[in-house]
Amino acid sequence: MSFTMHGVGVSSGIAIGHAHLVSHALLEVAHYDVPEHLVDAEVQRFSEAVEAVRDDLENIRHQLPTNAPTELGSFVGTHLMILADKSLAEAPAKIIRDERCNAEWALKQQMNSLVEQFDRIEDVYLRERKFDVVQVVERVIKVLLGHPSQVVLEKQESGMILVAHDLSPADAIQFKQHQFAAFITDGGGVTSHTAILARSLNIPSIVALHHARDFIRDGETIIVDGNQGVVIVSPDKNTLTEYRLRQEQWEIDQQKLKRLKLTKAVTLDGTAIELHANIEIPEDVTQSKAAGATGIGLYRTEFLFMNRRDWPSEDEQFEAYRKVAETMKGLPVTIRTLDLGADKPANPDEARDCANPALGLRAIRLCLAEPHIFHAQVRAILRASRHGNVKLMIPMLSTIAELRQARQLIERAKRSLREQQIPFDENIPIGGMIEVPAAALRADAFARELDFLSIGTNDLIQYTLAIDRADDAVAHLYNPLNPAVLLLIEMAIRAADKAGKPISVCGEMAGDPRFTRLLLGFGLRQFSMHPTYVLAVKHEVLQSSLPRLQPVARKILASADSERIEPLLDKLNQ
Ligand code: PEP
Ligand code: MG
Repeated sequence: MSFTMHGVGVSSGIAIGHAHLVSHALLEVAHYDVPEHLVDAEVQRFSEAVEAVRDDLENIRHQLPTNAPTELGSFVGTHLMILADKSLAEAPAKIIRDERCNAEWALKQQMNSLVEQFDRIEDVYLRERKFDVVQVVERVIKVLLGHPSQVVLEKQESGMILVAHDLSPADAIQFKQHQFAAFITDGGGVTSHTAILARSLNIPSIVALHHARDFIRDGETIIVDGNQGVVIVSPDKNTLTEYRLRQEQWEIDQQKLKRLKLTKAVTLDGTAIELHANIEIPEDVTQSKAAGATGIGLYRTEFLFMNRRDWPSEDEQFEAYRKVAETMKGLPVTIRTLDLGADKPANPDEARDCANPALGLRAIRLCLAEPHIFHAQVRAILRASRHGNVKLMIPMLSTIAELRQARQLIERAKRSLREQQIPFDENIPIGGMIEVPAAALRADAFARELDFLSIGTNDLIQYTLAIDRADDAVAHLYNPLNPAVLLLIEMAIRAADKAGKPISVCGEMAGDPRFTRLLLGFGLRQFSMHPTYVLAVKHEVLQSSLPRLQPVARKILASADSERIEPLLDKLNQ
């Protein structure tokens, strides 16, 4: 019988193939008593299993294929860290001794209590790290049960669709070697490691399907539509034909887009548009250049501070920033200062306990509270400025006072470099992000004091509509077309224009071709997005005529009713 399941599409594309269910060792755990004289041996069995998994993970880390996404190395590192933590490496041994139970059971009890602790955490990113703990425990249990600790892939046919409860990044390495067509998981959220990985592997993927593993049988034909977040199990002939056509069309469209790589992004009426890329790590520059991005509009430096127990030194930061600046060979590189906090804590273990992390000490607020961290980062950015076309951007500004305080710290960093006779670009442009409604409403004042602005629509929508951008439960209310959001975006663009300062959008809206014409109609001339979307947005730009767009964009702006905006947007996109 055919049926459809809905989840969260985290990587686009359409795949049709046979399901390959990944075993779930945790379901197989039995509970039995261990006689007193065998307790030491049981503890020993547990320790050996932990060691075997450690060896396995170390091997995986050393044998990463050269074309493996860079994130994999750090994900495997996180799993090694979790495995080494006392709460997993030692606590279960105490349970074995206290309760005289088998190692698998002790480990599962300990995991349950850790998961409970994670479940109480409000921060979504942190809460999702519980999946990493579960994945590590699963590996140890597989060894205890006599299974190899890696996901076993009995079948090797290409084009398989992996169906898993959740996948560890280390397991996902096999994606490269086995050429899976897609993967779907019960767990995970948009910000989970699995989702991050899916995007970098560029295969259609859907997470948060909840019970996919329970309802899908091994070998069953399934369609994965990553664009819509839909899985169709055992499709009938007509559906299959329809999706084969859609898949072909999708692939043709992707190929066509590639031809635009070297085409200049110019509208039909001759206006040049800048299409920049957002990056998280220096290696992302390769993908950005391949997509024909003409600059880096947002370098999210906080990723250098994550998954580790120490802060990166000034020198380590300098090397990362210099690499990006040099590789971009004179094209602009906008380095954003630390945006840690909320859904991006540096280290889950040390995350601050606060009621509303998104409204708490994050981004520039954190940097002003911890000036030594900001000082080292600004010095590193300034030093890198000599090696390319570097700009510095401050996130999450909400008051002019904050901006002035940040500028004073930047001046102090400049002074310290001058004193040490370390060269840097004295005229490095300093920009700020408009992502808090307070800043959007007074973008005029920020534009006067800054060299450029960039609108962070992800946070601007979150704060304007009071909707947590990472919370699945309110995801349906997260609407970029809300009239208040559009008004704030347009106001900020107008304010920057009036002050004669460049402005871009670097939130997800910039990478969604559905919004390209609307933003152009509002006067936007610079977009920055994940490299995967650059060509699709360029395609829209090439077919847009500004004189035709502006009147419809004005009508949209005048409307206070979201429902009226949708049809007007369709008209704009015709
Ligand atoms: C944004 O908020 O739109 C943005 C680009 O920053 P981030 O997604 O890193 O918060
Ligand atoms: Mg933001």
